[in-house]
Amino acid sequence: MDYSLSVKKLLSREKISIGDRVQIEKGKNSFEGIVMPNTGDPDVLVVKLNNGYNVGLEIGDIKIKKMPPLKRPAARKFKYEYDKSKKNILILHTGGTIASKIDYETGGVITAIEPEDLIAAIPELMKIANIHTELVFQMWSEDMEADHWILLAKKIAQEHERFDGIIITHGTDTIHYTSAALSFMLQNIRKPVILIGSQRSSDRGSSDAAMNLLCAAHFIVNADFSGVALCMHASMDDDDCYVHDGLHVRKMHTSRRDAFRSIDVMPIAKVSRTGSVEFMTKYAEHGKFKGSASAGVDYKRKGEFKSLPVFNKKVALVRMRPGFSYKELEFYEKSGYHGIVLEGTGLGQAPINSIDKYTRHHALLLSAIKRMSKSCIVVMTSQCIYGKVNLNVYSTGRKLLDAGVIPVQMTPEAAFVKLGWVLGHTKNIESAKNLMQMNLIGEQVERIDPRAF
Ligand code: ASP
Repeated sequence: MDYSLSVKKLLSREKISIGDRVQIEKGKNSFEGIVMPNTGDPDVLVVKLNNGYNVGLEIGDIKIKKMPPLKRPAARKFKYEYDKSKKNILILHTGGTIASKIDYETGGVITAIEPEDLIAAIPELMKIANIHTELVFQMWSEDMEADHWILLAKKIAQEHERFDGIIITHGTDTIHYTSAALSFMLQNIRKPVILIGSQRSSDRGSSDAAMNLLCAAHFIVNADFSGVALCMHASMDDDDCYVHDGLHVRKMHTSRRDAFRSIDVMPIAKVSRTGSVEFMTKYAEHGKFKGSASAGVDYKRKGEFKSLPVFNKKVALVRMRPGFSYKELEFYEKSGYHGIVLEGTGLGQAPINSIDKYTRHHALLLSAIKRMSKSCIVVMTSQCIYGKVNLNVYSTGRKLLDAGVIPVQMTPEAAFVKLGWVLGHTKNIESAKNLMQMNLIGEQVERIDPRAF
């Protein structure tokens, strides 16, 4: 949207363009910042203050003048000094807010910081380990496809032996899909593979980027961990991060820095920004922590490392709701999908009972599910997110079980990833069904930790 004529006139009178630095006086207040493009009310001038926040100003009583641009300090060059006594961490960069800054042309957040800039901005990182970086993608995580997970998994499979650990910087929106995908694709990996993101971009005072990165590096260096995990703020303070199992984690808040929660399990560990590591699962008692975190199963990574980067993209994730129509499901049948994860209500229900004229179509959903379960895999998770799916409690669940629906104890996202990965290996319905019922790498939560909710 464009500014109104009166705002434009004011700006042109003072020879001010979008992106210019200005000083504004309004009543007793004075502000300094950058003029941003209009994002809402055309009569309100948007200015990005030095602290990174935007203010909207009615222009009626303001005095505005153009200021010379701030001299940006010359970009510090990342000077790599190898220290033989330190561990080696590879940072694979994929994009997201963690590597972003504000684009003053559009007012949006763009991915523009090279991995080297990140390290130059956080020199403490160099004290923890030797840092190697590589740009793999530069994208928002909402744009990621399974193809990106595969490329990333292949890259890690290729590189991990040369390093003591890998950190992946990633957008937060779908980071938990990627962490689940890498968990399936990099089985029994003997190195820590830690995904991090940030909720606030690195040019903001409140950015969580540095601390998440430092905690991940400390965890790699100070803990004897192997596997795929996610390291993000534990609370709204800047004290600790949680390390979450890559299979049992989810973004639970749009904007808080502590948006990520382990689901149905405890986080693997708490890491302080100064480097202390406190394990939070029973595995901590074993002295040395090895293996899949906390799914409540005593799963140990005993087998050989297996790189299994496959995915069948004909898999859907479909949310049940009041009024859901069988036609919505039939779309996937007609489009040749091989697997469907249902996000059921409550314990794993779907609207399949016809009890009056309004619900007559529900019977058709049950028949569609029954028919589709023969040629395709239909899996049930719960949109409650926390807690187990149980199709034995209510008659609805029992009908779904009879129709061939497979209940799984995973987040809908992890189930979606597992189903695509399983169907990437086999199109044989019976073997795929068996694999979905099994607990292959601790993905199914067998014992829910009551402290986790
Ligand atoms: N939409 C962004 C992304 O997921 C948000 C973030 O970077 O955290 O890439």
